[in-house]
Amino acid sequence: MNDIQDRLEELKDLGLYRRMRPVSGPQGATVLLDGKPVLVLCSNNYLGFANHPRLRRAAADAAMRCGTGAGASRLVSGNMTVHRRLEEALGEFFGYQKSLLFGSGYHANIGVISTLAGKGDVIFSDELNHASIIDGCRLSGAETFVYRHRDMEHLDWGLEQAEGRGSLIVTDGIFSMDGDLAPIDEIVEIAEGYDARVMVDEAHAVGTFGPGGRGLVTELGLIERVDVLVGTLGKALGSYGAFVCCDRDIYRYLVNTSRPLIFSTAPPPPSIAAAHEALKLLQEKPERVVRLQQNAVTLRQELASEGFDFGESESHILPLLVGEASKTMGLCEAALERGVFAQGIRPPTVPEGSCRLRMTVSASMTKRELIQAARSLGAAAEEVGLFKPAIVRSIEDHVEEAQELREAA
Ligand code: PMP
Repeated sequence: MNDIQDRLEELKDLGLYRRMRPVSGPQGATVLLDGKPVLVLCSNNYLGFANHPRLRRAAADAAMRCGTGAGASRLVSGNMTVHRRLEEALGEFFGYQKSLLFGSGYHANIGVISTLAGKGDVIFSDELNHASIIDGCRLSGAETFVYRHRDMEHLDWGLEQAEGRGSLIVTDGIFSMDGDLAPIDEIVEIAEGYDARVMVDEAHAVGTFGPGGRGLVTELGLIERVDVLVGTLGKALGSYGAFVCCDRDIYRYLVNTSRPLIFSTAPPPPSIAAAHEALKLLQEKPERVVRLQQNAVTLRQELASEGFDFGESESHILPLLVGEASKTMGLCEAALERGVFAQGIRPPTVPEGSCRLRMTVSASMTKRELIQAARSLGAAAEEVGLFKPAIVRSIEDHVEEAQELREAA
C-alpha cells in the first residue's frame, strides 16, 4: 500500500508539496518563523486584532465566566448568552434582521449553500469563488453553473438557460486570491430579473472595506437586495468562527436545516467574546480601517515602482503573479531570506498556471516596514531570475492559459 507515498512524491515532483512552517509566539505584523523574525505579508489578520490586548482580555474573561467550550451544538445544549449577544450586535452592525454564528467561514458557506439549494435547482457560482463555496455547491446536490470570472453576460445567459430553476447566485465580495471586487450591483440586478437569491461572501471585506468596515455590500448600498451575507470572525476580527446575516425566515430555515449548525459544536465562548470585543473596537476606532487601506496603497505603490503588477486587484489583497509552482516557491524562499513572508499560493487554491505570492497588509504595519518589504521583494525577484516583464501579466492571461491547458489535457 504505497499509494499515499506515491501521491506525496507526485505532489513534490509537481512543486505542489505543502508543509506548515513553525511560528513561535502570537500572530502580529511580524512573527518568528522557523525561529527568524519576518514581516507577515500573507495573513488575514488585517486589523492586527489577533493579538490585541483587549481581545486577549475579553477571551480570558469569557473563559473564566463561561468556560472554554460550548459543549454541543446550540440546538442540543442551549444558546449561551455570549453567542446571542454577538449575533444581536452583528445583525445591528450590518443592518440585517438576523445574524447566525457558525463554527467557521467554511462551515457557514457549505451550511448556507447546501440549505438554500438542492436537487432540481441551479446554483450560479463565479469561477474564482473560494473553495468552501465550491464545496457547498457540491454538497447541495444542485446543478452548478460556473460563470466566467465577473462575466455578467455569461451569468445572465446561464440563468436564461436554467428556465426558472436558477435559485441562488453566490460570489466572493472581494476575491480572496486576486483582490478584485465582484460586480455585486450588476449581480443583484440580474438576480431580480430571474427571481434568484443572492449570497455574498464578505470574508475579506468585513473590517477592511465600506463605511466603518461594514464591507462591500454596505458600501454599495445593497443590504436590502443581498439575501445572505457571510462574514468571518477569523480574519479582520482577529478570532475564529463566522456569521451569516439574513432575514428572519432564512434564519429560521438555517436553524432547522443547516447541517454544520445542527451537527457541529458551537464555537467556544472565548473566541466569540474576543470577536465581540473586535466589533466594539472597530466601532470605536474606524480609523483602523483607513490605516489598513493606506497601508495597502503604500505597498501597492512601492511594489509598482519595483515593476510588479497586480492584475485587477482593487483592495488590500495584492496577487503577485508568477505562473509556475516551483518558480513561485523559489521567490517565496528568496523573500523569506530577506525577512519578508509572502506565501506562495498554488493549485488547487488558484487555477493551474497562475501560482502567485498572495500579499496582504495589516493596519498594524508601519510605512517604513512596507517600503523595506517592497525593496526586499524586488531584490528577491532579481535573485531568482524572475524578470519583471514575465511577472507583469494579468490574471485573465493566466486564467485563459489554464483553460487552454485544461482543454488540451
Ligand atoms: N470564504 C473566503 C472568501 C475565504 O477566503 C475563507 C478563508 N480563507 C473562507 C470563506 C473560510 O473562512 P474560515 O477560515 O473562517 O473557515
